[in-house]
Amino acid sequence: MIVPSPLSKVHLKNFDANAKGDIKREDAEAAVKELRDELKTLQEKLYSSGEKSLLLVFQAMDAGGKDSTIKKVLSGINPQGVHVASFKAPSKEELDHDFLWRIHQEVPAKGYIGVFNRSHYEDVLVVRVDNLVPVSVWRERYDHINNFEKLLYDSGTRILKFYLHIDRDEQKERFQDRLDEPDKHWKFDIKDLAKREQWDAYMQAYEEVLTRCNTEYAPWHIVPANRKWYRNYVVMTAIVNAMRDMDLHFPEAQAGLDNIVIPD
Ligand code: ATP
Ligand code: MG
Repeated sequence: MIVPSPLSKVHLKNFDANAKGDIKREDAEAAVKELRDELKTLQEKLYSSGEKSLLLVFQAMDAGGKDSTIKKVLSGINPQGVHVASFKAPSKEELDHDFLWRIHQEVPAKGYIGVFNRSHYEDVLVVRVDNLVPVSVWRERYDHINNFEKLLYDSGTRILKFYLHIDRDEQKERFQDRLDEPDKHWKFDIKDLAKREQWDAYMQAYEEVLTRCNTEYAPWHIVPANRKWYRNYVVMTAIVNAMRDMDLHFPEAQAGLDNIVIPD
């Protein structure tokens, strides 16, 4: 579900996190498998031609499914052509630079798919909600982000941004699961409960991101993410559609290959 048009005001309460479109689960799962095969070929073309790159940005509330979406969508893709960066709270060195410094170092080189698990958007999300910098500082960042993404776009990077939209009830269930199942304990962080308390402030911060940074050159997709199978289907479809549209080709073969005989 793409945000309607660049710069239209987004109200997240109008987006149903439970949505599942018109497709049945089994059909969506079959489609994901087929699309993954196509994605493999598209990625080989991207990598071998080495002319363009693709950047996938994932944002969500805790337990929103960033990790598992990345795993699901990119499994089976040649890992040599993929670069995943996870952004945590910045280090002292990172804080001593502008907020995009650490981000710029992780953008995909030509031929690569770059994946951001969290991103520069944290600098107008957690930073805003927790007042980590003055309002006058984060206010300017929407424009900085749009300009930065335009620079990447003009340099040959196609950018797709995904906000995985779960609702508060779904987060509660997933947190409870993490507490109940010993294999999932490592995923539970007590600090996530404090963020849950700030749910409304986060929704407001997300709405501003989705409104102000939804551009033609770097669109946001609001993905209904309560149902994992539908979430995977929506994300996979958006990526494959975008890559089809990138007009990717294998490089021209060298002349004379027909006449070559491999010596014994
Ligand atoms: P998991 O799903 O495994 O919990 P995670 O992305 O939540 O993955 P954590 O190490 O739990 O990883 O959390 C990273 C934390 O870093 C998040 O709480 C996030 O808000 C915070 N963070 C990321 N970027 C910034 C930033 N620029 N400033 C402050 N905090 C940030
Ligand atoms: Mg976490």
